[in-house]
Amino acid sequence: MGICPHRFGPAGKPIEFKGDLADIPAFLKSIGLNAMEYEAVRGVNIKKENAEVFGQKARENDVLLSLHGPYYINLASPEEKTVQASVRRIYESLRASHWMGAYAVVIHTGYYGDLNPSEAIRLAIKGYKEALEQAWSDGYVFPSVSPETTGKTTQIGTVEEVVKICLSLGKKCRPTVDWAHIYARTKGELIQKVDDVIKIIEYIESNLGKDAVSPLHTHFSKIEFGKGGEREHHTLEEELYGPSFDVVVKAYKEVGVTGTFISESPILEKDALLMKKICEDIY
Ligand SMILES: [Zn+2]
Repeated sequence: MGICPHRFGPAGKPIEFKGDLADIPAFLKSIGLNAMEYEAVRGVNIKKENAEVFGQKARENDVLLSLHGPYYINLASPEEKTVQASVRRIYESLRASHWMGAYAVVIHTGYYGDLNPSEAIRLAIKGYKEALEQAWSDGYVFPSVSPETTGKTTQIGTVEEVVKICLSLGKKCRPTVDWAHIYARTKGELIQKVDDVIKIIEYIESNLGKDAVSPLHTHFSKIEFGKGGEREHHTLEEELYGPSFDVVVKAYKEVGVTGTFISESPILEKDALLMKKICEDIY
């Protein structure tokens, strides 16, 4: 058993934790975890003061924070009102992340609708730029926006698309790689072999540079898929579903990148701990 170099933590409030947000980091440290994604998926409602206290406690307990922005975002919507509301939600996510010191702001970019993918990406880049520029001009300069690889074929967010968005946005963009989503989107064709994962990491690094993968912001769980891709997230112990965490962590080891692994399993922190254990067995 070796030393696992990655960070692990839950997507949102741990299921076994009862209490205030500010006390979560100490709880995570006590069970052996050191990352957390704050879930603002239904809207960014946190107040500045609470975000700052939470961020302070996270730093004191060596818990690296990220923030997941609202689901109601569609930068490629044909409705101008929806696009403007989406830009606003990304701005609010960046602002809250600056307050709490969250390094990555995870965003689902939106849907192709009737557009061809390249037109949808063009609109997405325009929206991200607006949100970033607004955040910077208000002094919220810390966090990186982090478009996520998505699980459904209707959603913007193949690996190539996420890289393309980040290339246009420059240094303040880092990808969120969700291996379950990539597996679901390709209907289990990819993320079967260590080499599948290595190729994707190397593609990201060769296009976006070392910073984008130091650490590589990562989501993991097992997943069920159908014709259109993602259906439901599952726990690591459910043998019916993939991908295998071993495959992913072996690839990180081989390439030599470190990751922040956020568990999106139904049993959040418990699977984060199982991932950590699998990692220790592999290193
Ligand atoms: Zn997500």
